[in-house]
Amino acid sequence: MSAAGSGSLPRGLSAPHSPAVPLLDIGRGNSPLREEILAAITRVVDSGKFLHGPDVAQLERTTAELCGVEHAIACASGSDALLLALMALDIGPGHEVIVPSFTFFATASAVWRVGARPVFTDIDPRTFNLDPNKIEAAITPKTRAIIPVHLFGQCCEMDAINDLARRRRLFVIEDAAQAIGAKYWGRPACSLGAIGCLSFYPTKNLGAFGDAGMLTTSDADLAQRLRLYAAHGMNPRYYHKVVGINSRLDTIQAAVLNVKLARLAQWADQRKVNARRYHDLLTAAGLAGLVVLPHGEPHCEHVWNQYTIRITAGRRDAVKAQLADAGVGSEIYYPVPLHLQDCFRPLGYKSGSLPETERAAKEVLSLPIFPELTAAEQQTVVARLGDIVARPAAKAA
Ligand SMILES: *Cc1c(COP(=O)(O)O)cnc(C)c1O
Repeated sequence: MSAAGSGSLPRGLSAPHSPAVPLLDIGRGNSPLREEILAAITRVVDSGKFLHGPDVAQLERTTAELCGVEHAIACASGSDALLLALMALDIGPGHEVIVPSFTFFATASAVWRVGARPVFTDIDPRTFNLDPNKIEAAITPKTRAIIPVHLFGQCCEMDAINDLARRRRLFVIEDAAQAIGAKYWGRPACSLGAIGCLSFYPTKNLGAFGDAGMLTTSDADLAQRLRLYAAHGMNPRYYHKVVGINSRLDTIQAAVLNVKLARLAQWADQRKVNARRYHDLLTAAGLAGLVVLPHGEPHCEHVWNQYTIRITAGRRDAVKAQLADAGVGSEIYYPVPLHLQDCFRPLGYKSGSLPETERAAKEVLSLPIFPELTAAEQQTVVARLGDIVARPAAKAA
């Protein structure tokens, strides 16, 4: 990294008292709800019901409604949701599942865990989502499912993916961990495939106070199988139909999420306002040609779990370091494509096999976008970014 010496003086002069802007400040979202959340937790403590109970049932009902599906099944995490979806669809050894490589690890590890083979497919460089045109070539007689990931909060091109899946008799499992509340042609994420998977990891748009996840489906049989697999495959008690796992949602997490769910739409609106404001500020600052702004598809309602720009010409890591020096938080989602991870080396992928994914991994940078981020903070982010990228690139190390 060549941040040292590349202009701390001019930066200091241009922003002498500019306050720090964090990538994410979870406390700003939670603190106004502190009393309400504590009361909900206290009710659980007093009830002595730490698993199942009315809070979990309520969260399942409201999530199903929000997602426009018949059934929602709580589980312990988004990672478990993906695993359970594959188990309930009887996907395992000898099968292949098409997944993006430009995503969080859990999308592919779930496939590996059930003994199937993840088949990595390249992305559309504008949206960072699976490119439907590249899926068909990856289908073989062993393919059972496609897992489109609605990355950063924007839905994949689901009509094309579903058409293909119907023609080739494949299941579609939506990884909507980053996209609760997002819409595709007006239809909610999690209602667009056979099964939807949600995560309530604390940094997601709806975050618990720990791990939590949810599965969605409108197929009653599948809902029953998901529930069975999430509870040791046990029904009735101590009679095991299948070998499931233990993946329960803590009642305390459900109680917290029930309080927060009522604010989700408002938070999504604030994220949209922030994304629009970045677009305007970055454009007005003349940076739209120096960095690549995120692309929102007109038929998609983006919920902006991340606001992800591209910084080209090999400057991304230096820009991130200089932003950090200037007190501006940013993050790289994701620096190493999954097909190049050590653990997936046995799959035989080589560098260069997914060019758009590999290019994105070198160029992406996510800026602060959380709902409570202020306009002044966004101006600071854009000003500091402008100071850095408008300067000629530092000598290559
Ligand atoms: C967060 C995330 C997951 C995993 O969710 P956890 O609740 O952390 O297990 C899966 N896929 C994607 C795309 C994610 O962002």
